[in-house]
Amino acid sequence: MLIIRDVTKIYKTQKQKEVKALDQINYEFDEQGFYAILGKSGSGKSTLLNLIAGLDKPTSGEIILNGKSFSDFKRKDLDAYRNSCVGFIFQEFNLFDNLDVYKNVALALELQGRKAKVEEIEKVLDRVGISDLIHRNINELSGGQKQRVAIARALIKNPKIIIADEPTGALDQETTNEIFDLLKGLSKEYLVIVVTHNEEYANQYAEHILHLSDGKQKEQVELTNKPLEAGMELEYKKSLSIFSSLKMGFSNLKISIVRLVLCILLTTMAFSSLGFCLSLNFYSRIDIIYGSCEKTSFQDPITISCYNRPDENESWMMGLNNSNEIMDKIKKNTQLDFRVFNDSYTVGDFYIESSDTSNDFLSLFNPQGIVEIDEAYLKQLNFTITGTFPQSDDEILITEYYYNTFARYGFENEEIQLNAGEVTKEKIIGQKIYCSDLRSQQKKSLKICGILDTKLDLKPYEKLTEEDIKIDNEIVTISESIARIKQCSLHCPIYMRKDAIAAAFGPNIISSKLIGPIIRDKRTIQVLIDYLKTESNSTNKYEIRFGISDKLDTIIDNLNLIQSYMAVFGGVLMCFSIFLLFSLLNFTIENKKQEMGILRALGAKGKNLFFIYSSEAIYISGISLIFSFVCCSVLLCWMNNYLMKTENILVSVYHFSFLTYFLLFIIALVSTIVAITIPVLRVIKRTPAEAIHMEIK
Ligand code: ADP
Ligand code: MG
Repeated sequence: MLIIRDVTKIYKTQKQKEVKALDQINYEFDEQGFYAILGKSGSGKSTLLNLIAGLDKPTSGEIILNGKSFSDFKRKDLDAYRNSCVGFIFQEFNLFDNLDVYKNVALALELQGRKAKVEEIEKVLDRVGISDLIHRNINELSGGQKQRVAIARALIKNPKIIIADEPTGALDQETTNEIFDLLKGLSKEYLVIVVTHNEEYANQYAEHILHLSDGKQKEQVELTNKPLEAGMELEYKKSLSIFSSLKMGFSNLKISIVRLVLCILLTTMAFSSLGFCLSLNFYSRIDIIYGSCEKTSFQDPITISCYNRPDENESWMMGLNNSNEIMDKIKKNTQLDFRVFNDSYTVGDFYIESSDTSNDFLSLFNPQGIVEIDEAYLKQLNFTITGTFPQSDDEILITEYYYNTFARYGFENEEIQLNAGEVTKEKIIGQKIYCSDLRSQQKKSLKICGILDTKLDLKPYEKLTEEDIKIDNEIVTISESIARIKQCSLHCPIYMRKDAIAAAFGPNIISSKLIGPIIRDKRTIQVLIDYLKTESNSTNKYEIRFGISDKLDTIIDNLNLIQSYMAVFGGVLMCFSIFLLFSLLNFTIENKKQEMGILRALGAKGKNLFFIYSSEAIYISGISLIFSFVCCSVLLCWMNNYLMKTENILVSVYHFSFLTYFLLFIIALVSTIVAITIPVLRVIKRTPAEAIHMEIK
């Protein structure tokens, strides 16, 4: 069934010298029987055996199995042949010391993708006479017992051919007899090919002997030409599953703790910084805006900032003089009723006249601007007035927020001085305040005619103001903080009646903002954003802002800068950790070359080895990946908290989204594959025989 025809094997040594290990060998094996390959050391016995076992390829000539030449075998066929047809027994046993007897035998089955059954293994151990040793460790066995385990491991696969390379080379005479007896018994059922240099044993046991000397065979053999009955078909068994391969790699893990920790640390740092960068990319402006509005029960109306520039080469300036036009357009296209907000930057500076008293009062009353309103609009907003609606152009409404500030810290002008506690609404209504017009340098006198309740609820901001007090006890700090929170909202301007601004400050007022109604759904916010995009062009620009922080864009710009640094940092670290993984694997694999060869001879496929020996890197990456998920989440959490405290953003700006997890996973996968492929492939590409040989010699 197995024919060797004109087989020559030439090895190339490292110095490019050629060694002819086999020279034109012709031979034929039957389906059963005891065959010995006899010869002195170096005569080519192992070489021939490796060729028969499909562990190596001949330089020329053919090995024919049931009429089909190995040279026609695809890789898959050869794997199947090794995996299911051949049971290989080595001189040095080549058992796995870290597994016990049971597991060593079971491994051969697992390599066929089968689950080992206890009875099956007991039966085979019984057959080789060591059923009582089933749970022994390998290093607790004698040489003869070890070889029996090796034979059991070959038999469990139920092979067609049993191949043994000097199986008794390391054993004493008595044990040698026993092993030969055992093999002899098996040769009734199997084709048994045994390599030996002991002529006595060969003559005593073998029915056929192939004498080798310096790669040549002594007696010529005429090959039969009779047609072959197709006795043996290749069985394509499944192979070791990826999971089992990884598990096996894990039990083999012998990496030092320091190396492991270092590797995980570096890889975690690399993954974390990359993950962090990715997360910074995935913030959603609309979600932040909406989330923030929601957190504050939609008290912070959206504002629209307007910018203009005369031509494209100049920088953007805040402000527009046709604000009313865009206000009308927005109303027409989105049904949203915005109001022009003339802020203190464009109109003037407000203060309470008290000439040389403390400056604190000035900052206490520092309205963000002026809004012109009519009573209908106030009704629409559900705002209520104590006092009266402005009847003349110099009358103003102040908001409840400012009234509360006065109540807390007192009120003072040329006519009246009220301490905290003395302030009442009645006393405040009718008081004069001043506004200095920045452009005309004039001082305008205005009269408070009423207090507008804008239904401001400071509860959501409580934490922020508390923090401020704890850190710094100065009043100014507190009021500034709140003022910032309220920047651009309807809670902090002063209100005048229609056309009063032009009357007080002249007709050509520039305004930089539109201040709007409360929008209670995300979709409308999006509609507005989209509309403003269509209205923006190369000279006019409209940006949506929300009350909580005018600074969101600056923050995000800064973060984007951090992000690019982090990306470079992460990239460099990534290269380092790939290199570290790479050298780690190289080291491991160099030390396990022989083991890989043995597994190969036992029927492991290239794929199995790939997973067994890259498991180390896979575990390291896996653990690092999990760690970096945690690190990223913590980092982002800290970041959000920081933004909340320092920038008054009440919602999480950054999220560790599914997409980030996924992309990070892909990065980890790719980098691990890069790190493992080269070292592992280098070994897999080597023929199994070469790998085993290195150690056996
Ligand atoms: P045996 O098993 O009979 O002792 P081998 O088959 O191992 O002999 O070796 C036959 C010859 O081929 C020897 O001269 C050996 O040095 C040489 N040889 C075996 N393997 C290699 C190899 N991988 N590279 C170079 N030479 C080899
Ligand atoms: Mg040999």
